[in-house]
Amino acid sequence: MRKEQADVKELENSIKDLELQLGKAESVLSGIKYHPELKGTLVMKYVKCGRPSCECQQGKLHGKYAYIKTKDEEGRQIFKYIKGKDKETLIPLYEENKRYKKALASVNKLKKALSHYKNLLRKEKKNQNGKKGQTCGQAQKD
Ligand SMILES: [Zn+2]
Repeated sequence: MRKEQADVKELENSIKDLELQLGKAESVLSGIKYHPELKGTLVMKYVKCGRPSCECQQGKLHGKYAYIKTKDEEGRQIFKYIKGKDKETLIPLYEENKRYKKALASVNKLKKALSHYKNLLRKEKKNQNGKKGQTCGQAQKD
């Protein structure tokens, strides 16, 4: 019986801990602006230029250059080069979207874990309540 009580306590502690983490993660998320108008994701790439005499052919690649990884009309993956003028404005926005998605993923992960633990706790408590009637007095000490 002591074992089960320890489990409930453990679960309650895990839930408290997760709620704390979730609160932090949500406040991080609320501090990041999302830009839904941006398509695709930002990738920084090293590239070969194609000139046969260039040193990039020996592995000394050019870059990094900023590209937008996205899809064309037929759904094929393409990389669009970000030109010099757009770099200063677009890159920070894309990076902010990246941070937003990462923060959102961690909020969702924590929410999922939290509901999992709450379920476990509910089951555990139900288990214990169900047993109470038929166990010795010791188990009822709470
Ligand atoms: Zn080259």
